[in-house]
Amino acid sequence: MKIQVPVQKNQKYDVEVTDLTYQGLGVAKIDDFPIFIEDALPTELVTILVTKVKKNFAFGKALKINQQSKDRVKPIDGAYTQTGIAPLQHLAYPAQLEFKRHQILNDFNKMKLDVEVSPTIGMDKPYHYRNKAQIPVRMLNGRLQTGFYRKHSHDLVPIEDFYIQDPEIDKAVVIVRDILRKFQITPYDEQTHRGVIRNIMVRRGHYSHEMMIVLITKSKKLPSEAEIISETVNQLPEVKSIVQNINPKNTNSLMGNQNKVLWGKGTITDQLMGLDFEISPNSFYQVNPIQTEKLYKLAIQKAQLNKDDIVIDAYCGIGTISLSLAKVVKKVYGVEIVPEAIEDAKRNAHINKISNCKFVVAKAEEQLGKWQKAGLKPDVIVVDPPRKGLDESLIESVAEMSLQRLIYVSCNPATLARDAKLFAEHGYQINQPIQPVDQFPQTVHVESVTVFEKSR
Ligand code: SAH
Repeated sequence: MKIQVPVQKNQKYDVEVTDLTYQGLGVAKIDDFPIFIEDALPTELVTILVTKVKKNFAFGKALKINQQSKDRVKPIDGAYTQTGIAPLQHLAYPAQLEFKRHQILNDFNKMKLDVEVSPTIGMDKPYHYRNKAQIPVRMLNGRLQTGFYRKHSHDLVPIEDFYIQDPEIDKAVVIVRDILRKFQITPYDEQTHRGVIRNIMVRRGHYSHEMMIVLITKSKKLPSEAEIISETVNQLPEVKSIVQNINPKNTNSLMGNQNKVLWGKGTITDQLMGLDFEISPNSFYQVNPIQTEKLYKLAIQKAQLNKDDIVIDAYCGIGTISLSLAKVVKKVYGVEIVPEAIEDAKRNAHINKISNCKFVVAKAEEQLGKWQKAGLKPDVIVVDPPRKGLDESLIESVAEMSLQRLIYVSCNPATLARDAKLFAEHGYQINQPIQPVDQFPQTVHVESVTVFEKSR
């Protein structure tokens, strides 16, 4: 049956927005045909221009908002809105938190699973939270600029105030930009694949205030290296490490494999959960320290650990969760796929004088099977997988181990709900409300903690 498409490209329509997608687009329907609209919120009456028509849906642009949502707030500034940095910035923060809670409920409903979801734990100040920035450097009208990409493109929009980043990081980016300008360093050009500097990465310890500057270059050579280093160190006293990362490839991937320490240490140290963590340029480290501590405390509390417990931390990264709970249990086994992260984890155990953790480089799904076959009997398993969620074989291995509970830290409710369905088939249920914690205010990312227990 051919579906009648009730809208046409480049035509205007008056619509009522009834929903918000997981990407933060407003949804309106004409004769049941969905249209996705940027910068439009539920309850709003909007005049739209249809920009793209597909078989089962269309995209539109809001030309005029005829009736505003009570949850609409003034966006930060025009240039900023053109980027994808803060796609929910036009939605009031309490509504953002409710949007995230609702997202989880929606995804579980789709799986026909009945769960409760607690109100999202938010931030008192839902901005200036990121401890890390990755800033593209490009030539614009003959001038080296830093900023961010315009939505759906690789055109740079110059930005100095990134709003969701630590303001000290914003200041550092501007200072480094001006130093690069002064020494006439050529920015990378994606079209010709020429130029020197591709990106500036800055990390700043939330507690330690130690700063790391990574200059990501296309070329091996950084002209005026000595001058750039001395000006950076003079102007930014918090800098403890300057690293050049060489990425000669013609790809979208940000960092290359080669790091050259130009000045100071090759790492910075920060504290999390009262522990010291050394962080190297390529390692994953949670970007919102305030909310991460809330998330970890909650995960640990929900794990109801005893001093004789054996715990597996799957997808352990640099060991932040493993080391946070090592003190209160007998033994922790961590598994992670990135070798450098496991090196960091081992070093971090040593720095914190923790000796009851064992870290393994492997795919979590394979290692859990090995541990299960070797007769390892964990009391609790914590999983913190990337967006794609758990491998089915991991869930099967877990089902073979008779644990008390599994704590699932999720950054994607769709895969969480999919995995919950499989857990249910293996007799693991959710008996308490899922707890969302807002790790990424102003964005559409939804992080949560769920407890799975074997039904008796
Ligand atoms: N728990 C850590 C890291 C979470 S991010 C923290 O809170 O800091 C998810 C981690 O899973 C990343 O470090 C990534 O490298 C790792 N990873 C991705 N796929 C994996 C797999 N199949 N097996 C093990 N680790 C994996």
